[in-house]
Amino acid sequence: MSDHILVAVAWPYANSLIHVGNITGSHLPADIFARYHRLKGNQVAMVSGSDAHGTPVSLRADAEGTTPLQVYKKFHAGFLDLFQKLGITYDLFTSTHTQNHFKVAQSIFLALKHEGYLYVESQQQWYAPSQGRFLPDRYVEGTCYVCGYPNARGDQCDNCGTLLDATQLIDPRSKIDGTTPELRETEHFYLDLGKLQSSIVDFLRQREGYWRPNVLRQSLGQILADGLHGRAITRDLDWGIPVPVEDWQGKCLYVWFEAVIGYLSATIEWAQSAGQPEAWHDWWTSPAAKSFYFIGKDNIPFHAVIWPAQLVGAGEWFGKIFESKDGTRLVLPYDVPANEFMNLEGQKISGSRNWAVWGLDFLSRFDPDPLRYYLTTNMPESKDTDWDWNGFVHRNNDELVATWGNLANRVLSFTYKHWEGHVPTPGELRPADKEILATIEAGFQGVGEQIEAVHLRAALSEAMRLATEVNKYLDQAAPWFEIKRDKQAAATSVYTALRAIDSLKILIAPFLPFTSERLNIYLGYQQPLFGKQFVQTREDELGTHDVLRYDPDPAAGVWSPSKLPGGQSLVQPLPLFRKLDESVAEEERARLG
Ligand SMILES: [Zn+2]
Repeated sequence: MSDHILVAVAWPYANSLIHVGNITGSHLPADIFARYHRLKGNQVAMVSGSDAHGTPVSLRADAEGTTPLQVYKKFHAGFLDLFQKLGITYDLFTSTHTQNHFKVAQSIFLALKHEGYLYVESQQQWYAPSQGRFLPDRYVEGTCYVCGYPNARGDQCDNCGTLLDATQLIDPRSKIDGTTPELRETEHFYLDLGKLQSSIVDFLRQREGYWRPNVLRQSLGQILADGLHGRAITRDLDWGIPVPVEDWQGKCLYVWFEAVIGYLSATIEWAQSAGQPEAWHDWWTSPAAKSFYFIGKDNIPFHAVIWPAQLVGAGEWFGKIFESKDGTRLVLPYDVPANEFMNLEGQKISGSRNWAVWGLDFLSRFDPDPLRYYLTTNMPESKDTDWDWNGFVHRNNDELVATWGNLANRVLSFTYKHWEGHVPTPGELRPADKEILATIEAGFQGVGEQIEAVHLRAALSEAMRLATEVNKYLDQAAPWFEIKRDKQAAATSVYTALRAIDSLKILIAPFLPFTSERLNIYLGYQQPLFGKQFVQTREDELGTHDVLRYDPDPAAGVWSPSKLPGGQSLVQPLPLFRKLDESVAEEERARLG
């Protein structure tokens, strides 16, 4: 029986490019996890999209003299390009600017309102008379009331780091035109988190056994220390999803409130686009479904506390409002394996200082699998890690090329040459042959369990350890010498090594899909390991939007040891990886900053 696995990935803001820290933080671990579960034969929905709304996007539009819609479309197109080149196989990568997402987000809002989890309160906010509008916190600058720094942002002072109350800024001015704003009263909806606290604590306690310590600390630990308090979920903004209540024109749902709803709306959009509009229920209303949220540590409270509160609070009313039929409860997160951060050459990654390795730029000079390899071995699963260019070159040369690439290449080339392009038919397997095959076959359980627990570094390191075992086996068997005295014995050794490599190909495929797919061809298989990504243009009342989709895998369910048949035709192999010169690290460092 197959399981339904939701792979939910943090929605990138459509106002900047994606760098290696973002990739190793969420997109890559999610993709490895999704590919594994598909190979296992499970039903996977991996979803995300561009966060098109919110002040970061509209601020950038104002700065560039363009519209938020154009800013979002530009960065969104770059995301789709990157994910195809890096093989991040979203079943659907969409955006928050779709009619479907508007409807789903508004339905969650209305369900919370119906269930009594929303209340209205007035607050003071800066208003720009010159523009006739309220200014979001990030649109106001002024003097920090803590340290006196003259250019503090409304939400935070870059000099002393304090999170500021924008209304207390000294000498405030509008970032748009420099005029002086005035404080006015404005009303907003608040999510009554205090009322939901006991349900959220129960939900988190049930996950204490297996969640990452940092995630529990920032959710359960924080609640037990400080309690939960109401949080404003609307804003005075015109770029976003309108508050679906009469006389609330000019106000939108807060970007954080609506973006997390994207996990649900994207699954619904995927089901529609796949021609099975009811299929989303299998991941969202079936109690057996498991959902995994791949995010960075800066997003933990929103995914481990606020999103579950929205799901609990909406109760059965979401279905009644959205589908006009008896609803069922929506599935709560099973795991939130948040990653820490990746730094670069010992310093924090900073887009504005160009202290970053950008995904698309990297892929214009290097292949995708070496990037996926380095980012997995260096994934910040339990603490911050560091991208270091020397480390990248060494891991590429000493591990990827030396341990795995050379193993596959020398056995395949040798076989291709001496057995006329066919897998040799072995004689009876000897104890050493049986032993190495048993060792590799045990990897399907060992590597699989680590991936299921989202210990991806450990999983890849176990797969590489198995490759080292095959190298040791070959050093012992030495078919290159054996062939001179006994071709049948050499055939048995080569067959054993090929079968081990064929199994390793599957174990490594979630991490290194491009080279595993090539190896699969060299080994003579017709059926690809993975499906195909493609871009589709969808249309609704808001206009058109491009989404990235994924065709189901032809080889779903092949997570099991090789049964390589003797006599199978091979395809002439080429090396899987290339060795990098030491000077690469120096050249790449020179591009930074
Ligand atoms: Zn300050």
